[in-house]
Amino acid sequence: MYYIAEVDKDICASKNCHLCTQYCPESNCINYSEEDKSAYVSVDRCKACEICVYICSDIAKNDAIKMKWIDDLNEGFVIKKSGVVLR
Ligand code: SF4
Ligand code: SF4
Repeated sequence: MYYIAEVDKDICASKNCHLCTQYCPESNCINYSEEDKSAYVSVDRCKACEICVYICSDIAKNDAIKMKWIDDLNEGFVIKKSGVVLR
């Protein structure tokens, strides 16, 4: 298929930041887990536009999001419930 945005949870959790979640043009695609204190991407909704990478790296200066080939995602092709806070 194609590349997907992946959040490095360790970096994100250390930043106390929600910025990328406000800019993804795809609804319910990047959400924020209060339990993990990290943003996460719903793999099935990501369109690989890379806006979140720009926001995290160039605006927030946090470098927590990278584009990854879909077969190489750390958690695999896990479809997370969109619009739901993960527990
Ligand atoms: S912009 Fe980066 S650091 Fe901020 S919430 Fe998104 S992934 Fe985390
Ligand atoms: S690459 Fe685009 S569609 Fe995918 S999570 Fe980032 S902003 Fe959303």
